[in-house]
Amino acid sequence: MSDVAKELEELNRQIAVCQRCQLGKMRTRAVPGEGPPDARIMFIGEAPGFHEDRQGRPFVGAAGKFLDELLASIGLKREEVFIANVIKCRPPGNRDPRPEEIAACRPYLDRQIELIKPRIIVTLGRFSMARYFPGESITRIHGQPRRDRGVIYYPMFHPAAALHQPRWRSLIEQDMKRIPELLAELDRDEEAVLPTAEESYEQLSLF
Ligand code: URA
Repeated sequence: MSDVAKELEELNRQIAVCQRCQLGKMRTRAVPGEGPPDARIMFIGEAPGFHEDRQGRPFVGAAGKFLDELLASIGLKREEVFIANVIKCRPPGNRDPRPEEIAACRPYLDRQIELIKPRIIVTLGRFSMARYFPGESITRIHGQPRRDRGVIYYPMFHPAAALHQPRWRSLIEQDMKRIPELLAELDRDEEAVLPTAEESYEQLSLF
């Protein structure tokens, strides 16, 4: 097992017993997220719902089925991507996560990103969008990638919201179809062995 995989397992153990916020007392199981430790794409949802809380796995209910279909539409399986959430425990009645819960849970998501180093981060819905596009509106910026230091941030609607709204459903389907283009862009960059901004800065500091 790789070092990253071991560190992710250790992180999962910490999340499973976390009591940093009140949701720790209410959950059945924490839902750290899952996927390959070296995934190139990470999807970040909002919070576990009823089924996720029972199973300890992300996106296993109706929204998850839809996410699986969206992934299949571009030839990807869920096992090929990392799927996480902004908060790791279910809020009662699926209410919106509170700012203090998001803040308490933030170090876990930060660490997952630091370990996995995804090249594309897809935000699903407004809570994960807010992490990278504060103050923005999902209806305005969905489907518009932003590139920053070798990482592509790509905001999409939340599948649960899009599932029953025909207009959003077709928008989320269209936005998903642009992901292969983004992957191809990364392949081209990697072939050209372009340094990431981080590497460029490291090189600069040698002089
Ligand atoms: N909705 C989310 O945002 N995350 C899940 O894991 C399930 C539903």
